[in-house]
Amino acid sequence: MRFDILTIFPNIFDSYINTSILKRAQDKKLIKIYIHDIRKFSKDKHHKVDNLPFGGGAGMVMTPQPLCDCIKHVKKLNKGPVIYMSPRGKTLTQSRVEKFAKMQTEDTVRSKLIKKPGLILLCGHYEGIDQRVIDSLVDEELSIGKYVLTGGELPALTIIDAVSRLIPGVLGRAESHEEESFSKSLNRKKEYPHYTRPAEFNGMKVPDVLMSGHHKEIAKWRKSKLS
Ligand code: SAH
Repeated sequence: MRFDILTIFPNIFDSYINTSILKRAQDKKLIKIYIHDIRKFSKDKHHKVDNLPFGGGAGMVMTPQPLCDCIKHVKKLNKGPVIYMSPRGKTLTQSRVEKFAKMQTEDTVRSKLIKKPGLILLCGHYEGIDQRVIDSLVDEELSIGKYVLTGGELPALTIIDAVSRLIPGVLGRAESHEEESFSKSLNRKKEYPHYTRPAEFNGMKVPDVLMSGHHKEIAKWRKSKLS
């Protein structure tokens, strides 16, 4: 699956996307992440990308020209939806993440992944972006929760991370995502607690049932711990 990130801070992403599971997924060519610097599209002689808000008030608003030109450029490369990361958007859920991953899986199976539609993730900064960009070129606004961050970069990474791990082959067998919090197989509930060695730590013992070897009893216990 391909992800195109549109940002004015392209350097933010390096370490996260080049570590652990996302790195391995890229090495295996299961996902591809392209980062586009919105500032490069600015026609302003100082490459300005923001300006004062009409109507007054604090903060700066990202101007429409660089954003629209950048989005139009990326839309030629990726036929997927343009998603603006925004606290005003619908809150991201695991079932939404599953739909993104599924849409992609179907396409990936049919053909090569890179030219197939993926997600175009638009990161705002400051007070946000000019509404006319949203009205003309954005397909969907998504929030990662009811709080405000300084920029859309962490939300974009959040989507990439959550979607990528559901793409077949991205997680190894040992990292299966089937029985997990919010998954269908757990009825969208929160997962049961986990324990590992040692059996006793600082006086705290692992529940006996988990040491019993009785698979049925263990399953029953785990089910009782879902919340
Ligand atoms: N003035 C805006 C907040 C702007 S925060 C408001 O009150 O709604 C700056 C940028 O950070 C936004 O343009 C958006 O891209 C990103 N952002 C902040 N919080 C976010 C959240 N909870 N979910 C997704 N994106 C967020």
